[in-house]
Amino acid sequence: MKSYDVAVIGSGPGGYVAAIRCAQLGMKTALIEKYSTLGGTCLNVGCIPSKALLSSSHHYEEATKHFEEHGIEIPGDVKVNLEKMIARKQAVVDQTTGGIDFLMKKNNIEVFEGLGSFIDATHIKIDGKDAGEIEAKNIIIATGSKPSNLPFIELDKERIITSTEALKLKEIPKHMIVIGGGVIGLELGQVYYRLGAEVTVIEYMDRILPTMDAGLSKELNKVFKKAKCKMMMSHKVQSVERKGDEVVVKAENKKGEVVEFKGDYCLVSVGRRPYTDGLNAEAAGVKINERGQVEVNEHLQTSSSNIYAIGDVVRGAMLAHKAEEEGVFVAETIAGQKPHIDYNLIPGVVYTWPEVAAVGKTEEELKAENIEYKVGQFPFRALGRARASGDIDGFVKILADKSTDEVLGVHMIGARCADLIAEAVTAMEFRASAEDISRYSHAHPTFAEAIKEAALAATDNRALHV
Ligand code: FAD
Ligand code: NAD
Repeated sequence: MKSYDVAVIGSGPGGYVAAIRCAQLGMKTALIEKYSTLGGTCLNVGCIPSKALLSSSHHYEEATKHFEEHGIEIPGDVKVNLEKMIARKQAVVDQTTGGIDFLMKKNNIEVFEGLGSFIDATHIKIDGKDAGEIEAKNIIIATGSKPSNLPFIELDKERIITSTEALKLKEIPKHMIVIGGGVIGLELGQVYYRLGAEVTVIEYMDRILPTMDAGLSKELNKVFKKAKCKMMMSHKVQSVERKGDEVVVKAENKKGEVVEFKGDYCLVSVGRRPYTDGLNAEAAGVKINERGQVEVNEHLQTSSSNIYAIGDVVRGAMLAHKAEEEGVFVAETIAGQKPHIDYNLIPGVVYTWPEVAAVGKTEEELKAENIEYKVGQFPFRALGRARASGDIDGFVKILADKSTDEVLGVHMIGARCADLIAEAVTAMEFRASAEDISRYSHAHPTFAEAIKEAALAATDNRALHV
């Protein structure tokens, strides 16, 4: 039987990054993945394919709606070739997952294709192409998550679908009903409304992106409404039924009335659940909590001391970069180091356009914690760079401690915010004050100037360009 210092179960951004870091630290490492391609949800049916479709549909929207104002005329109609768009997305996925194969070879990580299940705390059975048993001193569970569903919905995966199917549709829906105004619903809803579908978003809470700063939700809601999407907040879905090619969704509004929606596709995006099916965790003494997550302590160690768990399968945000940080953390812990993760500084991004990004505390959280804070906000429309490119929607908001001026949260919506948020994370990692940010130079003209201006606004209301 082959034996390893570390075996990692699951090859998503948590698992493959953990494997690379273990190998870098000199440990003999195995990676077990049940599918034939590596990269997990993120590379195969998550981050990468959704961003490919967001980019393609953004180009189409630019060509049909904005080229003209830039003086670019396209003779004849601009058309979408969905088959080609989906094929391009798949090519991006294939290239990216192929890159992980290369990284595994480069780092001498042995990859096993098959479902990994515990025999005991140091032995794993592999069922599939590379069937067999292996032994490992340490094991990292990185089995990720799968889409959640509502108990009364039957997902037929043709018309009543999850994100996985929405990434490979064969036609543009006439009317896509999206259940859940969270990250997936809004990103994929935007893809399809740009391509010409009517989109209705049904959200249980009173606003989209309910866990983010309320100002961001409001601004993005405006963008969706401008695109003629129906935004049905405070609606509780009661039933979803397929009738031939039609899907009928019934939801109860705040007044207790039942409202009916008819479409040809229904995307169910109400969250994701931790995935431990077939893992046989009990055999290794690994405790799964009532939410289905693998229970871990502050070292990401499970109830079995040589077994760790990371990423979507444990508590916390279900984000690829959070999983990656945890992968590195566990590898270094096994190697005897003392790593640290500041979960407050894991940024969240929604890749709609305008992009939405945030790090640190929201105003709602600061109020709940009785922390006195000041606000500096700056609109993108006041920036020369934003006007030059025509991307004037949105703002940057900085929340700083009222007495010390330390930056406690940064919330932004606008062009390129997915990348701009890195500046806020860096500043907060070094515990910058709003005044610190306002005093370092930002190139002109850039979107990043909105961060400096928001910092100036938080420092005695000193913004220069409003
Ligand atoms: P996963 O990526 O889910 O990987 C787990 C792997 O384990 C899978 O390959 C699975 O097959 C394998 N596995 C499970 N059980 C076993 C077993 N018993 N034996 C062998 N293998 C097993 N996050 C972001 O940060 N940014 C984004 O832009 C983003 N976009 C997303 C878009 C969509 C549509 C979706 C669905 C998700 C998106 N996410 C995004 C979330 C991100 O994909 C996840 O947070 C991330 O993939 C979690 O990584 P992980 O390694 O924990 O698990
Ligand atoms: P989510 O938690 O972001 O959103 C789910 C939404 O559905 C919430 O707004 C919730 O209030 C709503 N909801 C729940 N039950 C409902 C009901 N019965 N009726 C109507 N609405 C209901 O989950 P998601 O969008 O499915 O995404 C899943 C995970 O994937 C998230 O944790 C997210 O972090 C991750 N993800 C991240 C990115 C990114 O980082 N850009 C992109 C996609 C997915």
